[in-house]
Amino acid sequence: MSTPDTLPRWALGSLYPSVTAPEIDADLAAAKALAEVFAARYQGAVASLAPDALAEALVSYEVLLDRVYRPQMYASLASSVDTFDDATRSLQARCGESATATMNLVRFLDVELAAAPEDVVAAWRAAPALARYTHFLDRARLFAPHTLDRRVEGALATKDLTGRRAWSQLYNELTAGFTFPFEVRGETRDRTLSEVRGLRMDADRDVRARAQSAVLERFERESPVIAYIINTLYQDHRLENELRGYAEPVGPTLLDDELPRATLDALMTAVEDHYPVAQEYFRLKARALGLDRLATHDVLAPYPEGERSVPWSDARAEVLRAFRALDPSLGDIAEAFFTEGRIDAEPRHGKRDGAYCSGMVPGLAPRVMLNYNGRLSDVSTLAHELGHGVHFALAGHRQSLLNYWPTTPMAETASVFGEMCLTRNLLEAERDPAVRRQLLAARIEDALGTVHRQVCFTRYELNAHARRAAGIVPAQELCALWSREAERFYGDAVERSPRDAWGWAGIPHLIHYRFYCYSYAFGQLLVFALYRQWERDGAAFVPRYVELLGSGGRDAPAAMLARVGIDVTDPDFWRRGLEVVTGMVEDFRALV
Ligand SMILES: [Zn+2]
Repeated sequence: MSTPDTLPRWALGSLYPSVTAPEIDADLAAAKALAEVFAARYQGAVASLAPDALAEALVSYEVLLDRVYRPQMYASLASSVDTFDDATRSLQARCGESATATMNLVRFLDVELAAAPEDVVAAWRAAPALARYTHFLDRARLFAPHTLDRRVEGALATKDLTGRRAWSQLYNELTAGFTFPFEVRGETRDRTLSEVRGLRMDADRDVRARAQSAVLERFERESPVIAYIINTLYQDHRLENELRGYAEPVGPTLLDDELPRATLDALMTAVEDHYPVAQEYFRLKARALGLDRLATHDVLAPYPEGERSVPWSDARAEVLRAFRALDPSLGDIAEAFFTEGRIDAEPRHGKRDGAYCSGMVPGLAPRVMLNYNGRLSDVSTLAHELGHGVHFALAGHRQSLLNYWPTTPMAETASVFGEMCLTRNLLEAERDPAVRRQLLAARIEDALGTVHRQVCFTRYELNAHARRAAGIVPAQELCALWSREAERFYGDAVERSPRDAWGWAGIPHLIHYRFYCYSYAFGQLLVFALYRQWERDGAAFVPRYVELLGSGGRDAPAAMLARVGIDVTDPDFWRRGLEVVTGMVEDFRALV
């Protein structure tokens, strides 16, 4: 047992005894056997199934997916905290290959659903037996115009193992190995990427400047490899888009998110029009810190009197208090992550950078990984990931596998709401104006980081993909594209150094998840709107919120949100969300 302030490592023993356990191979084999039975029974016959028979088939399909996912998820969890262990690496590769081979056996389902005649689909959609699979069927049809022949789909998935997935993994392995001999207040030792990044929030300006410079210098040095990875992945994406007949690089993402391009454009334009408010905040921050002008390494600087280190036990208590303030049952769900050993918080060599929550499958409790360095922002990260955890737990309670995962635009709802609840609670308990200013600043900076900066990333990503269509993009050109968005965002409020241009090389999301960043902005602004509803309606809001989270991925986002009174096609919706940021910046001005 760990003492309260020992940073926990998670226990994965309830999934499998170890990375070499024979149970894993038994499950991989069982999944394959289920897939063979499923294929023997349904292949070539899907369009002829009556609604009851299709419902039965989908239930078996969920059972088989569950078997496929469990070993894969275990391998991915184990690998994220021990990227250099050979047995774990080999397990991850074996699980990936086996899952792909198994899924290839049942890929016909998507293809046949997509190709089913309209009148058959209409009968399915009208049948009570298939009521809970309506959105799944809609989604299967959604990709119909872009789905290829089954053999081609299988070949593409197989080639992805040594293609895009291998390139992504190369980036992880490259950056997980970064160590920095770094001196802080007389102590020099090797630090991980995550630790040095944490020092960009140090109170000492020199430490911040050196930490930022060390990280960017390292990415600059590795940029030939990283630019090659990016050029390969972007070209891979473009070629596959051509095969599938998508009109633009962001096409598959928007289709998957079930949002029209107009929603993305309205969101991005509203946020870009709001950059001057961000710049106003940066000027106020410079004044509060006694600087003429902020530099990029000051953007995350703490306010001297508000700086504090948060022990793990306090982080746990604060986050649980915040969740309980919204609803005690949500606090209980979050607390189980701690008591059941489902959090890995300790930073260590070989562990992946960043943080995530793995939703697993319904019936299998989600897990949270983060690198806790004791800063207020780490406490927010904990609230964020536990928000995901609560979302998964509620959806896991109410939905079966095919309706379980929230669609991407909704994926950040509970996580960001968790952060808002945390800040609200901390602000309520705090009387010291200096600390209140600090807390408000943290919230504003989170909003700027989650909304404005993610829109910057997305604009860069759109431009970089467009540029890649014209040929290889040299690293220097990626720098130029990156700097252009930084210039728009920071204006003359923040001084930039030439080395800042290498920032693109250090953003894992731009490697692993295409066009994912805008969903952070979507999620945050959505949460501001929901948060206003909570402030207005109090306890009456909670059942609506729980209903929204418990819906998982059962409906398209617009339909789920319409039920809680939100219209995502209304441009004012985004402006209302941004007004919350403007209001916070005005409150902050009064405290400077
Ligand atoms: Zn998240």
